[in-house]
Amino acid sequence: MHATTDGTAGMVRGDGAGLLAAIAADLPYLRLLGDSIDRESYRRDETAYLQTGLPLAVALPETTEQVAALVRLCAAHDVPIVPRGAGTGLSGAAAGIEGALTIAFTRMNRILEIDHGNLTVTTQPGVINADLKAAVAAEGLFYAPDPASYETCTIGGNLGTNAGGLCCVKYGVTRDAVVGLEVVMADGTVIRLGGKNVKDVAGYGLMPLLVGSQGTLALVTEATLRLRAAPPPRSTLLAFFASLEAAGDAVAGLTSAGLGPVTLELMDRTTIRAVDDVHRLGLDRDAAAMLLVESDLPGDGAAAEMDAAVPACERAGATLVVRAQDATEADWLREGRRQAYKALEHTGVARMEDVGVPRSRIPEMLRAIEGISRRHGLVIGTFGHAGDGNLHPTFVLDRDEGEAAVVRLDAARADLYEAALALGGTVTGEHGIGAARRDWLVRQRGEPAVAVMRAIKAALDPQQLLNPGRMLPPA
Ligand SMILES: Cc1cc2nc3c(=O)[nH]c(=O)nc-3n(C[C@H](O)[C@H](O)[C@H](O)COP(=O)(O)OP(=O)(O)OC[C@H]3O[C@@H](n4cnc5c(N)ncnc54)[C@H](O)[C@@H]3O)c2cc1C
Repeated sequence: MHATTDGTAGMVRGDGAGLLAAIAADLPYLRLLGDSIDRESYRRDETAYLQTGLPLAVALPETTEQVAALVRLCAAHDVPIVPRGAGTGLSGAAAGIEGALTIAFTRMNRILEIDHGNLTVTTQPGVINADLKAAVAAEGLFYAPDPASYETCTIGGNLGTNAGGLCCVKYGVTRDAVVGLEVVMADGTVIRLGGKNVKDVAGYGLMPLLVGSQGTLALVTEATLRLRAAPPPRSTLLAFFASLEAAGDAVAGLTSAGLGPVTLELMDRTTIRAVDDVHRLGLDRDAAAMLLVESDLPGDGAAAEMDAAVPACERAGATLVVRAQDATEADWLREGRRQAYKALEHTGVARMEDVGVPRSRIPEMLRAIEGISRRHGLVIGTFGHAGDGNLHPTFVLDRDEGEAAVVRLDAARADLYEAALALGGTVTGEHGIGAARRDWLVRQRGEPAVAVMRAIKAALDPQQLLNPGRMLPPA
């Protein structure tokens, strides 16, 4: 099942042989993968359906100096660069470009400093999110951003996508956690932005621009991230509903009641059953939808917040509200939600989408998704960060369905995006435009806004070296 919206799939540019010779001469100690089997494993990220390219080679640098030298050599030989973390991305932005150099940051995996006085951690980009969390937790601190993929994805990839996650509803997304960056620009210049200042308005805000730029503007070689004191253990509640809309109403109700849960996640019936089949959590398999609500307020605050969440759910029509008995049960429930995509993958070929809408419009979005499923005759399992208005409708195809199903799926996907945009939403809440949604950027942002983005790209990367063809459609 391979379709592509990535115009870069067959493109080969520059003097690849010259680049490899120059790397061997100038960087003899750099780990460079040139074997075709090794290179194949860097062809794709988690968007298996895209046609992608085979990298010329894969470089695994360990220092900023090596990254800068690689960028200069690529510029001299006009060979494009694909930055890559763990390759868990869901937009095709870390997938291979034919004949390009993939720079994988997985060996730049050292945590450089945990600073208690300033509540920051300084890290190389290849550190796995869960490892960073564990390292700071061992010192009584908390790094908030927690994509569901946190056990495998890297901080560099999180910065590349401005990743969200389960507790971003309370603590914000990756961009909100960044206070300093070291980056290599497209000409090989190394610059440092921010630092450890809580407030700093000197010059243009380049950090927010670079975070989420999907490796198209600069390569991150070091990041200083905001920490918090570790919050207390969470109180956890599950609410089940007889309709998706009722669950959507509950999300709006919890928000308008002024509650600030640390987790507010949704799963529909298809997802509940898939998760329960794999994890045997004893979920209500007949419910149309389920919300996972958590509080990490200190003292009696968490219990009080959960007490207030119950009537908000019941007013929206909850058929059953249950509380986790202890921290272990809560961990299992949270983990069940994190594994929702993998559970759906057990049931067929799954393709996860990432639409977002203003929170008050979630019931309408859920209704639209049900309509799309019916109209196109496709199974859609919907789950996601309901508290952020960010849903992951996931198309699930039978494994033996052919190309006709892909055509139906593409039509359904177009309807999904149009529905989100009609509600004032977005075609991607956290996974990014990348290659997979490139055709929709102008439709969402408008040509004048995309022209500004192209001007920024041209100013920072005039040679179109960094992840060319990703994010921005051709003019
Ligand atoms: C099961 C599953 C669950 C997921 N859940 C979530 C979720 O809850 N929230 C969420 O936001 N995402 C989620 N994702 C998507 C994905 O895990 C995130 O986008 C993550 O941030 C990607 O990290 P990575 O290390 O795999 O990066 P990659 O996929 O390798 O790269 C992602 C982007 O970052 C760029 N990049 C990587 N390193 C650098 C660097 N050093 N400098 C510049 N650019 C760089 C790449 O070019 C690419 O554009 C999920 C994915 C899966 C498979």
